[in-house]
Amino acid sequence: MQVPPKDQTTIDDQSPSDRRVITGLGASGGIVIGRAFVMDRQYVDVSRTRIDAAAIPTETERLHKGVSESIEQLKRLKSQSANVGGAASEELGFLLDAYVHMLTQSRLVRGAEELIQTRHMNAVHAVSEVIDAIATQFSGIDDRYIAARASDIREVGLRLMRCLIGETDRAFETAPKGAILIAEEVSPADMARLQPGQITAFVTALGGAEGHTAIMARSLGIPAILGAADIIRGVSGGDLIIVDGGRGEVILRPTEDDLAHYSQRREDWRAARAKLASLRDVPSATRDGVEIDLHANIELPIELSAALENGATGIGLLRSEFMFMNKDYLPDEDEQYAELADIVTRMNGKPVTIRTLDIGGEKLAVSLQAEIGSGPNPALGLRGIRLSLRKPELLEAQMAAILRASLHGPIRVLIPMVVSVHEMSRARQIYEAVARRLRKEGHAIPDVLPPLGAMIEIPAAALAIDALARESDFFAIGTNDLTQYTLAIDRTDDQVAGLYDPLHPSVLRLIRDVIKSSRDRDIPISVCGEMAGDPRYTPLFLGFGLRNLSMSPVSLLPVKQRLRRLDTRNTEHQAARVMEQWDSARIAMMLDDFNDLA
Ligand code: PEP
Ligand code: MG
Repeated sequence: MQVPPKDQTTIDDQSPSDRRVITGLGASGGIVIGRAFVMDRQYVDVSRTRIDAAAIPTETERLHKGVSESIEQLKRLKSQSANVGGAASEELGFLLDAYVHMLTQSRLVRGAEELIQTRHMNAVHAVSEVIDAIATQFSGIDDRYIAARASDIREVGLRLMRCLIGETDRAFETAPKGAILIAEEVSPADMARLQPGQITAFVTALGGAEGHTAIMARSLGIPAILGAADIIRGVSGGDLIIVDGGRGEVILRPTEDDLAHYSQRREDWRAARAKLASLRDVPSATRDGVEIDLHANIELPIELSAALENGATGIGLLRSEFMFMNKDYLPDEDEQYAELADIVTRMNGKPVTIRTLDIGGEKLAVSLQAEIGSGPNPALGLRGIRLSLRKPELLEAQMAAILRASLHGPIRVLIPMVVSVHEMSRARQIYEAVARRLRKEGHAIPDVLPPLGAMIEIPAAALAIDALARESDFFAIGTNDLTQYTLAIDRTDDQVAGLYDPLHPSVLRLIRDVIKSSRDRDIPISVCGEMAGDPRYTPLFLGFGLRNLSMSPVSLLPVKQRLRRLDTRNTEHQAARVMEQWDSARIAMMLDDFNDLA
């Protein structure tokens, strides 16, 4: 049995009674035994600029926004820790309350306000000065209680500074290769910075299993557990731990038996994946010979090889917003073109569906922060096509890059977060105008423009599908947002993760009806939300008449394996029976039965 190198903690110095299991949301399957790397959040890059007198009100407002955001974060952590129960959670709750208190009318905030006003410091510089002043003052006092308060103030101040500069975390870039990352939160932008092989698994205190962090973890094949509140206090850097991503369990201070048991399970998992690899080149067709297109969803170019290795016959969803994250500038047409052209070329004639920018919500880009702002409810705010139409130069540059990339292979253009037909007709006008401009400039643009389609991910769009059909060449159903908006469940919020239910009959009816309407009108339709990659749902989708599914690369072979055992003459009948039900637990059981029979 192979155990990672010893550093701070060894199996020998632990008694079995120390063993502890922390649970969270199993966001990405797989078993990893390794050393914990606890995110070091002690470093913030402070820029020191002198601001004009005229900028004082804006900078003070920025400080207040940062304070509100920090308080919000602390409250989320507190309510998450309350779910855990026990003395440790109570203690953590008191501490977090104290932190909130330090941000409410405190010396820290008042001091920073004063420095902005009197010494024209920018907000982050002002906060860093106040923390240093408080720390210096306390350092002269020989009292353990005071020393602890000074370190609390520093902790709170650092959180505030991170909020002010919009920095999530940069420290995992220093994680030793092969480490298991432990963090309060990992954002989708952080995921985009992960180097392959650097982090073998991660566990966070916050986050829902349907958000983009979870989606990317699945896509990159990194086992992950989110919403495990207790993890922050439970683990120290260098501890040997076991992560079971499928079950959402972290084993702290594992026993020899645990290590043997999980090593075996890890081997079984690998063997099962290796067996699936033999399906890569077999036809993706049901037992009765109906061909099903299996496409991949990707966010980053590095995922392309996984898509191809797992037999994707196209890219069904390229989330272009990831090209905008982790950059403090807006990539221009040429930069976008170069990145897209590379992907389209590497797909070697297989179709690529490129979605225009869906920044907003949890997916943030510093260069667009000013436009998007921090509205009260980002999931319902300025995002997707709404933002692109508010700032048409964004859409123009993106469409130009996409049209130029279309010379390298077949592409389709997909518009996110569509609600009304007017958004589609406006997007089409811009699309055609961009094509005219490019032709004038001498670019070889195809005579017939690549298809322009709409994401169906908001109930309003699903219910008005006939109207959208007038302006759309194809549809792609986004079940992640469709579930979120139909059920009013924030997909990124661990507090309501248990209520996120894609099998709710309302969601299934919308999906079924959209597929039927599209087929009746001969409009190509696919599903590209996470449901598409879950083999339990494959009979249902085939029964609804769907013939194109797009998913994380790791899901392609399990879904292919499942559909090859299905017969569409049965699935149609099974889907009709499912749709007679009103209880999603019963629906799940029926699907399990159908899958067992297949
Ligand atoms: C969806 O909402 O289902 C979808 C595919 O888009 P995203 O997950 O990027 O919001
Ligand atoms: Mg979506």
